[in-house]
Amino acid sequence: MLRTTLALTLAAAPALADEINVYSYRQPELIAPLTEAFTEETGIEVNVAFLNKGMVERLQAEGDRSPADVVLTVDIARLNELVEAGVTQPLSSQVLTDSVPAALHGPDGQWWGVTTRARIVYASKERVADGEVTTYEDLADPKWKGRICTRSGTHDYNVALVAAMLHHHGEDYTRTWLEGLKANLARKPEGNDRAQVKAIWAGECDISLGNTYYMGAMLADPEQVPWAESVRIEFPTFENGGTHINLSGVALTKAAPNKENAVKFIEFLASSQAQEIYAEKNNEYPVAPGTEPSDLVRSWGEFTPDDTDLVDIAKLRPAAIKLIEEVDFDG
Ligand code: FE
Repeated sequence: MLRTTLALTLAAAPALADEINVYSYRQPELIAPLTEAFTEETGIEVNVAFLNKGMVERLQAEGDRSPADVVLTVDIARLNELVEAGVTQPLSSQVLTDSVPAALHGPDGQWWGVTTRARIVYASKERVADGEVTTYEDLADPKWKGRICTRSGTHDYNVALVAAMLHHHGEDYTRTWLEGLKANLARKPEGNDRAQVKAIWAGECDISLGNTYYMGAMLADPEQVPWAESVRIEFPTFENGGTHINLSGVALTKAAPNKENAVKFIEFLASSQAQEIYAEKNNEYPVAPGTEPSDLVRSWGEFTPDDTDLVDIAKLRPAAIKLIEEVDFDG
């Protein structure tokens, strides 16, 4: 018995000296269960610096001396921005290739998607009939006049949606669509995705754009439960496509002083253990084969993700922002 204990102690000792450093745009509450599970399994400590902005600038300023090994963020735009700034490095890993679908990682493995989320319509249970929500294109139809709420058009989530519209229909169509959508707004864009659902609950509008996981977040907050219960999730599609999705992802930094352990951590995030934590804690869609969304997420229904390449969406971002500003979407 004593010998067993001693052997375990010795085996664990060198690993405890190991650590990695993570820069994260993702919330501490979400990341902690993942890093704790990883440390428990490997003995590698994870130091996380939570940032609200300026990740690219910080990594560029730190250059080769950066302590960061791994970055965690959401949205293809931010992942792509990191790659274009030259602060990531390619990562090829059979574990990751087996776990992450090809559409959800960057060229050369410069970034890897670990969860997806859909940008959907929250619809008033009282004032929106079944079947009334159909396509994203239809949101510009005058039948929605004065009935739609959304956060700022220039928020990353909406920019990506507009970029996807550009991919499907081109510039002229998308400009007209944005003008129609703006004309249908019940109020000027303000607040976050959950604030729009609150506005539906308060009777200010009938539908809003929002990401799926916010339904889970609202149901976990007693003040917001009534907002959540006033709506149902509808999965619109593009006329010739599916439902718009985005992702959360991870990248290995160019500096990565603890590269070997960092790769272990990135591979861990794609493991079924970590994928289930993502699914349960943040109500996102796991990407690894054989992993399932939470029961709550499944209760919202099934959908077909739009198959537009996320890298194309990132490339269309500047054109999307230009159109959003041209139509003065938030004005
Ligand atoms: Fe979000």
